[in-house]
Amino acid sequence: MSEKISKYVGCPMCGEKSMTDIICSVNTEDDKSVRERIFDESFFRWKCIKCGFENKMQHPLLYSDVKNKFMVYFIPKVERSRIYDEKLEREFSELSYIKKRVVPSINAMKEKIALFEQKYDDMAVELAKLAVAEVVSKSTGQNVYEGYCTEIDKEENSITFQFFLGADHRSYMQTTRYDVYNRSLSIVRDYYPDTDKKKGFLNIDKAWAAEALRRYKGSV
Ligand SMILES: [Zn+2]
Repeated sequence: MSEKISKYVGCPMCGEKSMTDIICSVNTEDDKSVRERIFDESFFRWKCIKCGFENKMQHPLLYSDVKNKFMVYFIPKVERSRIYDEKLEREFSELSYIKKRVVPSINAMKEKIALFEQKYDDMAVELAKLAVAEVVSKSTGQNVYEGYCTEIDKEENSITFQFFLGADHRSYMQTTRYDVYNRSLSIVRDYYPDTDKKKGFLNIDKAWAAEALRRYKGSV
């Protein structure tokens, strides 16, 4: 079921305050269009009823896809590595086999949704991304600001990432062999098999991958 709250939102253009419904929780069974609206970001669009000014309004959103067995909790700019919510754990206690993730950005939410729909392991993707980011950073001489997996093609033996480099966050595409994902997957299976049995929503990101890799290297 979709859950929403109503609150007054002030227009940054004309100052008009209007009552706005903010949807805090959606699931793909009840609302077939929600996935598309998240991917084209119309879901987060807000329009002033007085002057028509449009703005992007980012707010926490719990996205559930029961068919594909995952939940992604978007909390803007969240920095914690795990979010534990007593009420949600109780509510979804029978769904312990479901992958639960917390993400800090809309882009990260889209990445998780696409990966889980295709049954890929996001921990392996983060490890692969970290390795590829290091290569990109060395070859371009620029810092990698952030990166997302945009395509995995087993047949073509390829995995593609979009990185954002340097101070101006220039977009940079990098494709590498699918084997990089496979090798990362075997590390996850050998060293982190119980990660998804933990309670709460995990933030599986670059910091998680760096720590996981550090521990892996320390143990081999
Ligand atoms: Zn306005």
